[in-house]
Amino acid sequence: MNDDENHNDKSLDNGTTHDNNNVNTRKSVVGLVPVVQDYAWGIRGMDSRVARYALENKALAEVDPDTPYAELWIGTHPKGPSRLKTGELLQDAIGEELPFLFKVLSAGKALSIQAHPDKENAERLNDENPSKYGDANHKPEMAIALTPFEAMCGFRRLEEISFLIKKHPEFAACISQDAKLAVFLASEALSQKDALRMLFSSFMNCDPEISSKQLKLLLFRLQAEQSRFHIHPHDEPAWERKCSRAIMRLAQQFPDDPGAMAPLFLNYLLIAPGESFFMAANEPHAYVAGEIIECMACSDNVVRAGLTPKFKDVDNLVNMLTYSMGGPTIDGGAYSADNPDVIRYSPPCPEFEVMILTVDPGKESLYKNPGVPVIMIVLEGSGYMDGKLCRPGRSYYWPANADDLLFTVAAARRGAMKVALAHKNLHLDRPTAVNPLDFGGASSRNVLSGGYPASPRMPYMGMGGGTTPVSQDRSLMDVESTINTINDIPFM
Ligand SMILES: [Zn+2]
Repeated sequence: MNDDENHNDKSLDNGTTHDNNNVNTRKSVVGLVPVVQDYAWGIRGMDSRVARYALENKALAEVDPDTPYAELWIGTHPKGPSRLKTGELLQDAIGEELPFLFKVLSAGKALSIQAHPDKENAERLNDENPSKYGDANHKPEMAIALTPFEAMCGFRRLEEISFLIKKHPEFAACISQDAKLAVFLASEALSQKDALRMLFSSFMNCDPEISSKQLKLLLFRLQAEQSRFHIHPHDEPAWERKCSRAIMRLAQQFPDDPGAMAPLFLNYLLIAPGESFFMAANEPHAYVAGEIIECMACSDNVVRAGLTPKFKDVDNLVNMLTYSMGGPTIDGGAYSADNPDVIRYSPPCPEFEVMILTVDPGKESLYKNPGVPVIMIVLEGSGYMDGKLCRPGRSYYWPANADDLLFTVAAARRGAMKVALAHKNLHLDRPTAVNPLDFGGASSRNVLSGGYPASPRMPYMGMGGGTTPVSQDRSLMDVESTINTINDIPFM
């Protein structure tokens, strides 16, 4: 018996033919055209991965060498809705909005210091000021590095901040006497949070004349220390040195913006390709440089406070932050139980998770349809997906009721093919990114007792890297994590 023949027979008078037809006609994967955002902080021209991907998936017809290409949006957000290759809106093809927005980011310079409101705050801001906050949804977000990636995430621990206040009198001059006292005297958790809030509020509300003058003095001193009175590397811990360098770099990008002092109170991270972190709602952060894929709840809600020419909203930011301390967990993902070629990154929020599939040359991998709408983009390498040629940048919509997909890479190819897939979080009970109370900042108890941060360090998953399961690769992981720890402690 052949079902297809029956369905093609239009003369069937069986009343259920139409329904049967819908059930049996499996939709297959279909090409997507994302949307490019050319924010000023993007990497310019073909150096930008966003531009190269956009050229491949036809989101751009040509690339201008002087234009910044910052973000590639794949999803149904009204500010940048993706379309199928056929011209149909993705949202119409799915029949509803996706709960998440999937992005590729190419950051050439720092993004603004920002936080994303939780649902309650998002609704209030949208109510009070719809022109600035057009979106009533919350926006937890997850970043997975494609290149070495620098970012500021979450507040430093109070011990670090109090040390930096003493070390940098120019920073101290931008903070009220009361706030400094609170920071120096705070002991238990509650008073620490209050002190941090006082400090942040006081710094953000500092008279611009004072902060601008103090920033100049600070830069002058840091530059002089770098050149003339060069401190011996062993006399100054690496995290302090990196903090100073970060301030100078930010000040170059945003002249006269006191936000350049942010590394004195925010954790400064450097993460390797394949590593990720999750930013819960109401946590301050600023991406500094590098390329990432980013997944977030479907929202464009940002409260900004510095390093930006855009609208700043210090009051709302001061009021909404949680004042948690320490950086986020660096999450290397987990090997998927269903497919050994897949590493999954599952945040503790229901809207999304990201899978990275790696297929080595000469190999094939069957990916089972997860039963929910999937968005995917080829990150690197070339191969085939059910006979369709895949190249870096090509993006697709894989319907919930479609067939499984077979990915293959020819043996003659030099590198593996990597594909990122995003969908609703199906592992909410087993998230990979969970932030414990003590993250392991430079002054973390774990650092003091163990010598280095307690963040779980997974093996470097370079973009050309293999897919050796962690359990079989312990020795490699130990070597890698030691090297990373010594040279590249992430919480700088
Ligand atoms: Zn953000």
